[in-house]
Amino acid sequence: MRVLSAKEGYNKFNDIRMQIPVCFIIAMEAEAKPLINALSLKEDVDFAPGLPCRAFTGSFNNNPIALVLNGKDEQYNLDLIGTQAATLTTQLTIDYFHPELIISAGTAGGFQRKGAEFGDVYLSYPNVVFHDRRVDIPGWKEMGFGGYSVKDIRSIADELNLKTGVVTTGNSLDMSAQDEAIIEQLNGEVKEMEAAAIAWVATLHKTPMFCIKAVTDLVDTEHPTQEQFMTNLKLAVNNLAIKVQEVLIKLLG
Ligand code: SAH
Repeated sequence: MRVLSAKEGYNKFNDIRMQIPVCFIIAMEAEAKPLINALSLKEDVDFAPGLPCRAFTGSFNNNPIALVLNGKDEQYNLDLIGTQAATLTTQLTIDYFHPELIISAGTAGGFQRKGAEFGDVYLSYPNVVFHDRRVDIPGWKEMGFGGYSVKDIRSIADELNLKTGVVTTGNSLDMSAQDEAIIEQLNGEVKEMEAAAIAWVATLHKTPMFCIKAVTDLVDTEHPTQEQFMTNLKLAVNNLAIKVQEVLIKLLG
């Protein structure tokens, strides 16, 4: 059988009309692995041919679900983190799966001064913002921050005893003094690198979204974020997989 070129494969991809109501978007394979295993999701090889993103599908209590990863950078063979990859993945996810709900899942930094602890799982509420798009001109300033509303999941958070907070997105793992001041001003509680980009694309398509994020690091402490991230990654992603399933029960029954 002749293998399709990326272009032919992409045309075929555009012709497939699938409908999966709930889609997760996740940046790193390590963040998604426990969930892919727990739900026995299988890769859909027709998804986004020639592009790095990868989709996995399956069901949860008979409800179809999909999980889409940003995929790996060809040159560095590392997970594509950050807002560009998240934007592309979200558009492709909407094109292919036509979801009714998008959930941005993954790890994040928390703030000790706001009571965060390693392994805590947060749901986003009331919105998702960008903290590193500084344009000090009226109007442009607010557009830079974004401030996208998310699905109101407060009752689920209450029932499952999960914390809620504003999720704040930027393209760096570290936190500059300027970032910190803006995060404080925007009331950010959960710092990560994809959610606001996903929220922006979801908003364009009027598709509801929210985030579920597990804390790998506390950004307002002495210890370097990258070291904390590596130490707590396993704890965080295992908690994430457990809480995602509890949230799915509340959402889907
Ligand atoms: N250093 C890691 C990879 C990058 S961590 C490694 O070696 O494996 C950055 C990823 O985790 C991003 O996808 C981001 O969304 C999330 N993240 C976790 N903690 C973060 C923090 N404190 N600030 C920003 N992003 C964070």
